[in-house]
Amino acid sequence: MAMIPINLQTGEVQKQQDNVIVGIDLGTTNSLVAVLTDKGPMVVEGDQKDALVPSMIHFEKEGKIRVGWSAKEKVLTDPTRTIFSVKRLMGKSYKDIAGFKDLYSYKVIEEDTDELVKIQIDDKFYSPTELSSMILKELKKRVERHLGQTISKAVITVPAYFNDNQRQATRDAGKLAGLDVLRIINEPTAASLAYGLNKDTSKAQKIAVFDLGGGTFDISILNIENGIFEVLSTNGDTFLGGDDFDRTIMNYWAEIHKLGETPYFQSDIGKQDLRLAAENAKRALTTNESYSVMLANFKLEINQDSFQRISEALVNRTINACQRAINDAQLNPDQIDHVVLVGGSTRMPIIKTAVSKLFGKPANDMLDPDEVVAIGAAIQASVLAGQNKDLLLLDITPLSLGIETVGGLMDVIIPRNTTIPTKAGRQYTTSIDGQKNLKISVYQGERDLVEDNRKLGEFVLKGIPPMPAGLPKIEIQFLINADGILQVKAKELRSNVETQIQINSQYGISEEEMGKMLIESMKNAEQDMAKRVLLEAVNEAKNVLLSSRKFVKQHAELFSVQEVETMNQLADKLELTITSQDKDLINKEVQELNQYAAPLAHKAMDATIQHALKGKKI
Ligand code: AMP
Repeated sequence: MAMIPINLQTGEVQKQQDNVIVGIDLGTTNSLVAVLTDKGPMVVEGDQKDALVPSMIHFEKEGKIRVGWSAKEKVLTDPTRTIFSVKRLMGKSYKDIAGFKDLYSYKVIEEDTDELVKIQIDDKFYSPTELSSMILKELKKRVERHLGQTISKAVITVPAYFNDNQRQATRDAGKLAGLDVLRIINEPTAASLAYGLNKDTSKAQKIAVFDLGGGTFDISILNIENGIFEVLSTNGDTFLGGDDFDRTIMNYWAEIHKLGETPYFQSDIGKQDLRLAAENAKRALTTNESYSVMLANFKLEINQDSFQRISEALVNRTINACQRAINDAQLNPDQIDHVVLVGGSTRMPIIKTAVSKLFGKPANDMLDPDEVVAIGAAIQASVLAGQNKDLLLLDITPLSLGIETVGGLMDVIIPRNTTIPTKAGRQYTTSIDGQKNLKISVYQGERDLVEDNRKLGEFVLKGIPPMPAGLPKIEIQFLINADGILQVKAKELRSNVETQIQINSQYGISEEEMGKMLIESMKNAEQDMAKRVLLEAVNEAKNVLLSSRKFVKQHAELFSVQEVETMNQLADKLELTITSQDKDLINKEVQELNQYAAPLAHKAMDATIQHALKGKKI
């Protein structure tokens, strides 16, 4: 099985050399795009000669959408309409983010369910995937302007700890932005590629990638052997980054000068100025011994020694995480062959010194730490485009493989371009009380609705013991061996009932047909996504409706006549709206019903109802 490069405009299979593939670092704070040039891989700059695109989106009241620097300008003046850190929400459910929803100044819908989060701007609801696609579109525009040609293929990086849902959400964002995402690669893998650490094939290399950005910290330990990257362990802190170092300097000044007693420093402007001064100080201390600035008649000063002292606790947190990662990889620090620095905050000498001390060797810091991941992604892209023969290409699945879920949606289990052999699985449940049999239909293709994909086969899992809907735990496993033979297993975990089939997924399909399927999926990406979000909204609404009706019936005696009536009215209204095809209205009414039901549910303290509200139905 090989890669099939196709020209999305003409539908022709392309010669590999004509094929530009870009590398994209879709970051929490900033994003970058890089391409291979005559001079090697380079990040693409914008009009202001800046390589970074802030990962921010601003929605104007009139509907205009800004991305990047112009959106960042709005974060203070229009916080409820400016989206930042959307990467933290990718592939996450409401429950996943319950602990840190206060972090957002924009409206992340609050519900205590396993549904994927949505973000509300006025009467519109956006998924993190849609929002990320806006950032990707901006990057796509930037490269197209630079190259003077349209591009449609990309390699996108994600953190090593991203799970399947988060990776799939990133792929979907690419598709929605008009990009065929050929590979999703791990950020530490990209950083190692940028430094060419895969080139020494004489022995296995152990690499530590230390990534300290604006708001997140990751450490990954990799093993590279014969060109194959394996993540041995990851650790980190999703709420530790450069911003925390800024805050330490702010606190230091506030304490020395008792800034809390000055009204100016209580105002938004004053706080903002202080934050900027602290960040400037931190940056200056990268190269200078000391820094001073006048702010509101105060002379704010700091030198290297004081900075080192006040940030010791933060530095130690990163070092402790490194130690845990090394332990998890069952290694000692001196067994690490190379250390790579990623992220703007690794410019700080206190970080470089601490990291070198831990590993007993200097870290790789020749490349710009903001750019290494995008550069590595561009190198991987050039390999896929056949421009770089240094790396080996493994066999891959040419089309995504998945199963049909409620409403005829395609649920991808093994994404396209996954190297084989591979194995992946997911858990499902039933949607009807007492369901005994479950039909599993296996499909191949990139479209969101199975009716547009290619059916590979189906089988029935029989003999599930009768249980209420939502209770059975059915694990579906896909296994592809080195010959491309797909084996699909289904097992109900409570009763151990299981069954399986084998399919030759490549049988009876030509490269041209696969090419056509890909083109169709790109052409229809937007409509497909619209259909998917509508179907998902309808499914969620049906679940909420079913459980809220059941809930009212079971606990009617606990509520006032007025409460029961309002619940019924809201449910009736939603039932009508479900047929409206208006996903924003459906979402809004689901939210209304949930919000009204929440205190009642609290009253009833009924855990089983909470249970019935969640779970993906098959
Ligand atoms: P990133 O998310 O990788 O772009 O990281 C941005 C972070 O790097 C911010 O917290 C910046 O303040 C920080 N940063 C950028 N340049 C420097 C520098 N020279 N010294 C210290 N921190 C820096």
